[in-house]
Amino acid sequence: MFEALSERLGGVFDKLTGRGALSEADVDAALREVRVALLEADVALPVVKDFIAKVRVEAVGENVIKAVKPGQQVIKIVHDALVETLGGDGPPEGLRVNGEPPNVIMMAGLQGSGKTTTTAKLALRLTKTDKRRVLMASLDTRRPAAMEQLATLGKSIGVDVLPIVAGQTPQEIAKRALTTARQSGHDVLILDTAGRTTLDDEMMSEASSIAQIAKPGETLLVADSLTGQDAVETAKRFHERLPLTGLVLTRADGDGRGGAALSMRAVTGLPIKFLGMGERAEALEPFDARRIAGRILGQGDIVGLVEKAVENVDRDEAEKMAKKMAKGRFDFDDMEKQLGQLIQIGGLKGVMGMLPGVQKMKNQISEASLDDKQIHRQIGVIRSMTKAERAKPDLINGKRRARIAKGSGVEVAEVNRLLKMHRNMADMAKRMGKGKSPIPGMPNMP
Ligand code: GDP
Repeated sequence: MFEALSERLGGVFDKLTGRGALSEADVDAALREVRVALLEADVALPVVKDFIAKVRVEAVGENVIKAVKPGQQVIKIVHDALVETLGGDGPPEGLRVNGEPPNVIMMAGLQGSGKTTTTAKLALRLTKTDKRRVLMASLDTRRPAAMEQLATLGKSIGVDVLPIVAGQTPQEIAKRALTTARQSGHDVLILDTAGRTTLDDEMMSEASSIAQIAKPGETLLVADSLTGQDAVETAKRFHERLPLTGLVLTRADGDGRGGAALSMRAVTGLPIKFLGMGERAEALEPFDARRIAGRILGQGDIVGLVEKAVENVDRDEAEKMAKKMAKGRFDFDDMEKQLGQLIQIGGLKGVMGMLPGVQKMKNQISEASLDDKQIHRQIGVIRSMTKAERAKPDLINGKRRARIAKGSGVEVAEVNRLLKMHRNMADMAKRMGKGKSPIPGMPNMP
């Protein structure tokens, strides 16, 4: 997310930090470029104007111009202004689901915005991370397919879905969902309301009447971040008719500009609570203004990376592997697991994007080298090995290499490369097991 904006801003700040002293004119020139970058990222004009004015007041002050590293100071000021625009410094706003059960979350949004997918993502998160008992119900009586979609999603993530009863109105379903949740001890009920392709009165009055029945503690609007300012406009108009408590921006994984995310809070006054980062049910991220600002400014997001790893990697497995590695053992089964985990936490591109400084090196890293297909191919090669070969890589002679290459549909050279990669990783494991640093010449690891 924000790749385009991040790259533009990186260029502006490189110029600033490259010099010793800054004049007011330098700062103004930089701010003009920041302004263009924000507009190109599709940030709403009033938000851009506000932002630049705020930054300027602080950035042309005496203490910045006379500072030892004025460029760094300006970046810090821009960073803080970004955090504020995105929603402030506090921790991500959680969901209000701690009232008398069932706590109702009502999902609203246009058709195709990702509402049903997000319903399932939230349900999974509340079940897995927060250990809640969740019931989901679809109120989209006009599209039986939407009801079935939720039922299917529920089955695949192991979350209860209210059984479909044909012929009921959305209001009747809402009442039945409340009763069922109460009787069966579900403490959170998520209502997936009907969407339309455009905002119309009928949809709004239906949503209002459901809200009156269900009294949701959270009413979340799901909006597609790729639609940029349209998403912001939709949120604004929705909020005028149906009081919302927060937003979820979907397809943030494909949004290189990020204009919706940057304008939403300022225009609607509503917090963005989550970002949808892909189609999988796990691809939902709490929205944290500080971390997002860091990502935009190319400072990386190590916290986010660690969180992703924690969510996706089995702790016991990881500990077992660490112990094994400490003894200097690292076989192909371990390597397959590690490659699989890398894919799970977002693949090479996902991981690189969250590391500090990588944005700047981006031009030196080829797209091809970040292609996850390569990792999938390597996993394929490992899977073509016999059990014995995986456990004892030394067994793999020329003949076996040829067989493995054939079995996984790659050239022998690729098998060789993988063997070499494995040897390097095993060497590192061995060095670390002996308490040395993983790379010769580097300081030791504690
Ligand atoms: P609804 O009509 O609003 O309920 O939309 P759906 O939940 O059916 O989603 C429409 C499409 O968008 C589906 O193909 C989803 O897989 C996809 N989708 C939803 N959220 C995301 C997201 O965060 N990222 C990506 N890449 N796709 C998403």
